[in-house]
Amino acid sequence: MYNATLSVRGRSGWFRALFRVLGCTGLVLWPGFTSAGTEVIGSRFWHGPERTRLVLELSDPVRYKVFRLRNPERIVIDLSDSELAEGVSLLAKGDGPVMGVRSGTPLPKTLRVVLDLRAPWLYRAFLLTPSGSYPHRLVVDLSLDPQDGVSLADPSNTREEDYLVVIDPGHGGEDPGAIGAEGSHEKDVALAIASRLKRIINWDSRMRAVLTRTDDYYVSLRKRVAFAMNASADVFLSIHADAANRRSARGASVFILSTDGASSEKGKWLAQRENASDLAGGVDIGEQDPILQRTLLDMGLDWKIRESRSLGIELLKSLGRVGPLHSANVERAGFAVLKSIDIPAALIETGFMTNPDEEQALKQVLVQERIAGAIFRALSAYCDADQRCPRRTAEPNVYVVAPGDSLPLIAARLGLTVSDLQVANPSGSASLQLGQRLKVPDP
Ligand SMILES: [Zn+2]
Repeated sequence: MYNATLSVRGRSGWFRALFRVLGCTGLVLWPGFTSAGTEVIGSRFWHGPERTRLVLELSDPVRYKVFRLRNPERIVIDLSDSELAEGVSLLAKGDGPVMGVRSGTPLPKTLRVVLDLRAPWLYRAFLLTPSGSYPHRLVVDLSLDPQDGVSLADPSNTREEDYLVVIDPGHGGEDPGAIGAEGSHEKDVALAIASRLKRIINWDSRMRAVLTRTDDYYVSLRKRVAFAMNASADVFLSIHADAANRRSARGASVFILSTDGASSEKGKWLAQRENASDLAGGVDIGEQDPILQRTLLDMGLDWKIRESRSLGIELLKSLGRVGPLHSANVERAGFAVLKSIDIPAALIETGFMTNPDEEQALKQVLVQERIAGAIFRALSAYCDADQRCPRRTAEPNVYVVAPGDSLPLIAARLGLTVSDLQVANPSGSASLQLGQRLKVPDP
């Protein structure tokens, strides 16, 4: 068990230690000072479609108890020998299940946090040890479903006969992924590109796309894989942005699964970094996904690797036309998120968050659209070869103007320039009409 008196940490640690020593001898009792061992130094809420997560950041590990009270519905979190650090407020965010948050001290030295709920939600709580820049954390997950099982976070009317593409925006919630020099987060770039890609894919009648996460919350790596397998996905694409110590490192790379070591030192390092997502994002190690108790089977693995490589080659070809490549070859490494059974899968590092120019670019709508368009064209080429997905119904070289379109956006999506489009469509490209057919020149 943890012994709070051994710990001297945090801003007021020295005072607390001094006080404890003096307090123990019974010499001093300073009014206004408490001898709490652990401070709650921060709090955050993350809302997902299946659960809402409360994260309490702690100066030290803590003994805690969580229980539920009815009429009205409440979740009570008692932290032993704890207090709220100065200036920390517990605020409910957004329109999740939590109406309000209160705190108090019902018993000496016990910090009680009460979540007032709109409806009877279930809870699960677990501690996380420090990871990266994060201190100790207590995570309280609230869910409606007792199993908190794998379901489609984004069920946008998938049909059985569709060629189903599961797009996985890396990181999310507690896990920001790579952080750029200007403070941009990989998780935001990944979600923006993935959402654009989903929209583009869903315009194509041959395919249907769903996302493993649709907002800023964390989904465990195991759950992302289980999600694709449960949905019987035909392809899995994980979208990321890279990090390197060298600020000049730039360009996109594409990885597929390796089960016998990485194809490069960089790949090995990257897989380790990406696989550590669960440490930052917060996963209860007791969490079990029955579907993944089957480990990656040898059966079908050769086929999967071969298919993933074909897809990877198309991705590099297409991404190389719209921006620089970091590596001209499809790399292989042991990414946990690519370990689905029998689903061709690739992880795309779209550029470097740590390169100041690319960090700027990756935040721009037109760049995101250009990358998403390039990924789509690769997928489309992969799909057309060997008739992997249903026959194309859209006319080639015709673009039908969709809601929200503009000439720069269409040009970015198609990997062209605005003037390419203007030249091919001398009349009618000045003001776009919904449903208008634009001639698309070959790139
Ligand atoms: Zn990443």
